[in-house]
Amino acid sequence: MRQAILDLEESKIREVANAGMGRADVLPFWFGESDEVTPEPVRAAAVAALQAGETFYSHNLGLPELRQALAGYTSALHGPIGPERIAVTSGGVNALMLAMQMLIDAGDEVLAVTPVWPNLTAQPLILGARLRCLALKPQPDGAWTLDLPALLAAITPTTRLLVINSPNNPTGWTLSKAEQQAIVARCRETGTWILADEVYERLYFRDDTANGAAPSFLDVSGPDDRLVVVQSFSKAFLMTGWRLGYLVMPAAMTQPLGKLIEFNTSCAPVFVQRAAAVALAQTDTITPRIVAHLRQCRDTLVPLLQALPGVQTSPAPGGMYAFLRIDGFADSLQLAKCLVLEAGVGLAPGVAFAPQAEGWLRWCFASKDVARLTQGVERVRAWLAAQVR
Ligand code: PMP
Repeated sequence: MRQAILDLEESKIREVANAGMGRADVLPFWFGESDEVTPEPVRAAAVAALQAGETFYSHNLGLPELRQALAGYTSALHGPIGPERIAVTSGGVNALMLAMQMLIDAGDEVLAVTPVWPNLTAQPLILGARLRCLALKPQPDGAWTLDLPALLAAITPTTRLLVINSPNNPTGWTLSKAEQQAIVARCRETGTWILADEVYERLYFRDDTANGAAPSFLDVSGPDDRLVVVQSFSKAFLMTGWRLGYLVMPAAMTQPLGKLIEFNTSCAPVFVQRAAAVALAQTDTITPRIVAHLRQCRDTLVPLLQALPGVQTSPAPGGMYAFLRIDGFADSLQLAKCLVLEAGVGLAPGVAFAPQAEGWLRWCFASKDVARLTQGVERVRAWLAAQVR
């Protein structure tokens, strides 16, 4: 067995969830997914595809008609992008791994902006890369920000790949267009590839962009820039369990990537791709409803949390998480376990996302029933009141 695999940390989010899963008295907010099922027309399309006998292998890069539809969808958001720049993958996490397999040799330096969903920092380690992290910083109001000059200085000619996720899981921090422009310019100087995880781009609550989506690296780069964007159907279409994502990349990378997909998964399931095509065709009805509901969830949860004694948090511009800390509780894993067992509230410990996020907690607010959020805060309030501090 490879030492790099044995050395990987077990998921601390799972550690908390294992303590509380299956308990009827726990309100789970630990995982990054909505508790609402996939819209009915999308499910119906998968059933119809199965009934029509679509049970076979397909192209490595995805069904041509889905790649075409994704090109149209991406172009509508970010300007002209053809299907020759797109590949369909088995989930966003598979898209991330494929991109890293394409770009990283063992020993290469990978720079990641953290805190971040742990998969993004585990994958380079699996491939034997040298991982460096640049941490965002929490502000007194609870929002996290990027020290842009520090990031630009950390990108050097030996940096093979920059891994950056915006809107960010777990902090909600979102890059501005100007920051993206500066990062692209720096990476052009150093020859560094950018792996931009933009799976939350549609879950954006500010109205400062023309397309309603979060700023994207696609908006500030050219077709031949060393840029790979990771996307997913999980968040904007409520399709986590379907395992479907895609990559947008320079056209020259697509054919070699097809080879790599052959050796990983060979292709994404056809009936899932058929359902995804229907999701894309109906995005104008599906996605705005999801985003409006998430905004309502955020705007319910965050003020209630802010009103709790000693709680620091700020409304995220994007994503589906509140990131918070509570005065007097430094050990986030221990706090998360106490909250599960004693308050019946399941949150993810901040330390799972970076050492700098120790003491913080992530609360996924994608709850179909907004009252569950209110109930969760009430439980935390009562638990806090009972602590002798
Ligand atoms: N990137 C980020 C930042 C995520 O939070 C997630 C899901 N938690 C993914 C990628 C992967 O999503 P999926 O594999 O479900 O497409």
